[in-house]
Amino acid sequence: MEFLQTLFNEVIGFLGISQTLEILRSGDYSSFTTYDGIVSLIYPIIPLLLLLELILGLIYKKAQTKVYKVNFLIYIFNRFVGRFIAIAMVALCIGLFQQYAPFQTTMKWYWIVYGYVVWELGHFVYHYLGHKVRLFWCLHSTHHAPEDMNLSVTHAHFFLEAPYADTIRTTICILLGVHPELLFLIMFIDGTYGAFIHIGENLLKNGRLGFLNKIILTPSHHRVHHAKNPLYMDTNFCNLLNIWDRVFKTYQEEQHDIKIEYGITREMNSGNFMDVYFGEIVALAKDVWRAPGLANKFRYLVMPPGWSHTGEHKTAKVTRKAYLESL
Ligand SMILES: [Zn+2]
Ligand SMILES: [Zn+2]
Repeated sequence: MEFLQTLFNEVIGFLGISQTLEILRSGDYSSFTTYDGIVSLIYPIIPLLLLLELILGLIYKKAQTKVYKVNFLIYIFNRFVGRFIAIAMVALCIGLFQQYAPFQTTMKWYWIVYGYVVWELGHFVYHYLGHKVRLFWCLHSTHHAPEDMNLSVTHAHFFLEAPYADTIRTTICILLGVHPELLFLIMFIDGTYGAFIHIGENLLKNGRLGFLNKIILTPSHHRVHHAKNPLYMDTNFCNLLNIWDRVFKTYQEEQHDIKIEYGITREMNSGNFMDVYFGEIVALAKDVWRAPGLANKFRYLVMPPGWSHTGEHKTAKVTRKAYLESL
């Protein structure tokens, strides 16, 4: 029975409905109008959409079984390991760096906007390095392995990626004066929206969200980010506000005539948990082992994926440039 209870708690936890259930049980429905009450109602939206998407996929017979299976295994694995390290890193960064901030934000609307812009900068830095530094790509590539897009991709992360991402994002925010209270609010919005942009074609065919596609980062932009088409590689690193993609010239809209091909360029089996999770680490270890000289071995760790000591680079930058020149 204990096993069933644990399983039940896990399902409730995944669906994010524990707080909602508590409020319903207490009978005090007015709590739904408080901040915690509103948050408790927003939390379950993405997990419920994920289930709806899965059911629709089964109805349409486009179930993307491979993606769901591997991402489910990843979710279970990370559930027990990754989350706690990430929370510890956030707490550590706040403790270390808050004293060096030149000022502190409050909860005024303009500070919320400021905080979000700073958060997006932190997100851009972590995400850009995740694509451009091979060692960090080992942490991030799990997220790019799925060859279909659906909400379960939200959970496809190597367990050390969250601690790595949160260390960079938290440090930048805290040093630039974002108060922890505001930081946690932003993390909640970012987490929810960051999950939503993985909504698949089964649930939302056109991810452009109409005129919003011109203003914010939409599922369409993030589909482009997950694509391995030469034009789309290494673009759209932001999460909600894509200002930094525009500033650093990594902004790319989905083209009507270029069908998105999801996944990464390496030969791999996206249905194999070990390959999805550890494949890039194995590939990097092999390259480092074979590289002549210590300097080359080191370069493999810090240069972008596709860099080669022979000079025959197959990086995203080279691939994209060659494609644009061939037009
Ligand atoms: Zn990415
Ligand atoms: Zn993604």
